[in-house]
Amino acid sequence: MYFRDVIGQEEIKERLRQMVAEGRIPHALLFDGPEGCGSLPMALAFARYICCTGEKGTDACGKCPSCVKFNKLAHPDLHFVFPVVKKGSSKIVCDDVVKQWREFILRQPYFSYNDWTLDLSPDNKQAMIYADEGDEIIRKLSLKSYESDYKVMVVWLPEKMNANCSNRLLKIIEEPPAKTVFILVTENAEAVLGTIYSRTQHIHFHGIDTNSLTQAMMREFPMLSEADARAYARLSKGNILRARELARNSDEDSQNLSQFIRCMRGAYTIANFSAQKKVEKQDALIDLKTWSEEMAKIGRERQKQFFAYSQRLIRENFIMNMQQPELNYLSTAESAFSSKFFPFINTRNVESFMKEFDLAERHIEQNANGRMVFFDLALKCILLFKR
Ligand SMILES: [Zn+2]
Repeated sequence: MYFRDVIGQEEIKERLRQMVAEGRIPHALLFDGPEGCGSLPMALAFARYICCTGEKGTDACGKCPSCVKFNKLAHPDLHFVFPVVKKGSSKIVCDDVVKQWREFILRQPYFSYNDWTLDLSPDNKQAMIYADEGDEIIRKLSLKSYESDYKVMVVWLPEKMNANCSNRLLKIIEEPPAKTVFILVTENAEAVLGTIYSRTQHIHFHGIDTNSLTQAMMREFPMLSEADARAYARLSKGNILRARELARNSDEDSQNLSQFIRCMRGAYTIANFSAQKKVEKQDALIDLKTWSEEMAKIGRERQKQFFAYSQRLIRENFIMNMQQPELNYLSTAESAFSSKFFPFINTRNVESFMKEFDLAERHIEQNANGRMVFFDLALKCILLFKR
């Protein structure tokens, strides 16, 4: 991981480079940012930069012996502390799974606590940093540094650390060995031991900026249009893990959208029919009935997704009606539909629309007959368009 591989967060990169250039590297840093913002990749890039013994520009040189070892994250002066999963009652420390950890990061440096836990333990046991890790931290830091000026210890998710271990880490941070840098990477600063928090220099991360995340998404998903990549970047609030999930779900979303459009179109046609258009009204009613039958068959999970999706789209259209385009998070296809649909979602009916979708969802959860629930929902929509 180099600075150039970290998506966005340019100001933070600059600040970290500055620290190195001025020889003012704090002995304990806390990278504090939400999931998917890239704080761990940044810690890895910074550790590489600190340890690089070659010609450093805006990034580590990539050629020196230190950089070569960093390619495999197997530098003797780079230490990791991270949550692990206990199997039975036997003792476990990070070094027992460090090989798996390195491979995991090298495959994909942007991941969540859940992703890592699942990799460790498919039965999804909680991972944490156990008391025994305290001895390990002390042992590792008492080692002489091999080849770099600095030893770097990256602590991923100190909020998952056992209290005993936290207290021992605190002691070391209070009286740090020379030329040792701690980089604590937290997603929940409030859960970090207060005394550790107050003794670290804080670097606050926000979500990844929209432009950088959009570009990254287009590189990762070559089929994605720029408009959709941008929509996912914004919708995810700069969380790349969420943005990826949205891109992967976009197939389902396009189905949700066409199902939603069909329901709204039918309901609207019936609500606004005039005597001359009797046939159209009949056709619309028949289609709504077919729609309900189809919706009844898609399975409970997809039905629930449809309800959540529809409520989001109604909310987005209401916001559009409020003329607040900067608050809108829509894909290209959604925008195209909404640009015509939004005038019909207004202060008079928005709440009732949300309520009806919510109610339908609850009925589905209570095992009501799907055809009835969806047809009933369509009829309610007719009334709401009539208002
Ligand atoms: Zn180097």
